[in-house]
Amino acid sequence: MPMVNLKELSFDAVDKFVRDLGWPGYRAQQLREWIYRKRVSDIDAMTNLSKSDRDRLRSKAIVGELELSTRRRSEDGTQKFLFRLSDGQEVEAVLIPDEERHTLCISTQVGCTLDCKFCLTGTMGLIRNLKAHEIVDQVLWTQGQMDANSALTNVVLMGMGEPLANYREVVEALSRLTNPKMVSFSPRRITLSTAGLVPQIRKLGESGLNVNLAVSLNATTNAVRDRVMPAINKRYPIETLLRACRDYPLPPRRRLFFEYVLLKGVNDSETDARRLLQLLKGLRCKVNLIPFNEYPGSPFARPDDETVLRFQAILLKAGFSAFIRKSRGRDILAACGQLRTEATVPA
Ligand code: SAH
Repeated sequence: MPMVNLKELSFDAVDKFVRDLGWPGYRAQQLREWIYRKRVSDIDAMTNLSKSDRDRLRSKAIVGELELSTRRRSEDGTQKFLFRLSDGQEVEAVLIPDEERHTLCISTQVGCTLDCKFCLTGTMGLIRNLKAHEIVDQVLWTQGQMDANSALTNVVLMGMGEPLANYREVVEALSRLTNPKMVSFSPRRITLSTAGLVPQIRKLGESGLNVNLAVSLNATTNAVRDRVMPAINKRYPIETLLRACRDYPLPPRRRLFFEYVLLKGVNDSETDARRLLQLLKGLRCKVNLIPFNEYPGSPFARPDDETVLRFQAILLKAGFSAFIRKSRGRDILAACGQLRTEATVPA
């Protein structure tokens, strides 16, 4: 019998594992508490199990952990973690401390299929999807690093990969993260960001997970969106995407987020800002403007601050909430669209 990694088991599978051992049912919840709340990976530390039960468990199971391969700290306090997975592949997560929050940006795939022209991860192609436990482990590992007065407050699925292209594992990970009997992270403090896979947006809306949804719009015409996000926009052009957004069943008092990467001379004009207003009219939403983060060899440039502020002012004047996303961790290539495992960054 191969060893079971308890972290690979769904909620129900932990119940079954415990039943198969002939143990009482409540033991399943004890295991979940050790794994997801106390983040214990040493079975011998599970002190509400008797010595003989621990020995039995140790002969059948382990509690796997992510292995940190490199850690880099930016001048602004942002940290980038590079993790090595059990098959040797690597993914990144970024911890962004702020005055009142600590946000962790996690990855959902090694690489990405989408090939958005402004994104460094896109240049890797897709190597593989992450498993649910590899997604959850990025959160658990980071929680284990934080001290008592700096708990993780927010999780964003905006790292490497397109979360909705790995729908099944991502939804399983979200359900473990939000389950009050597992990680118990508030769904209001989790945001999934998508380039716009329309069928999966609709499915996510019906899933009842109630996490926040961010949509990377990034252009106001199909001509420009086809150029910067060809793989996704050819399948789900702007009108189709926005129809799904209008249909999205938003819980009361919640809003959709739209991300808009500002690329110099490509989508940053006043005409673009006014077209964006028209497109988003009537939608309960917030707009996050992300001035393009450059990386070695990047084919676009970052607009100057004046252009960014002018774009924002047009949205604000029309009554939209529009924020300029501060770039964090640019000096260590940890900002949006700069993630790609170190080993594969061209010299
Ligand atoms: N695939 C998902 C999540 C990962 S990208 C998505 O597309 O939403 C997370 C965000 O970073 C997206 O809004 C994307 O448009 C933005 N982004 C990608 N590359 C960027 C870059 N070089 N500079 C600024 N933002 C970038």
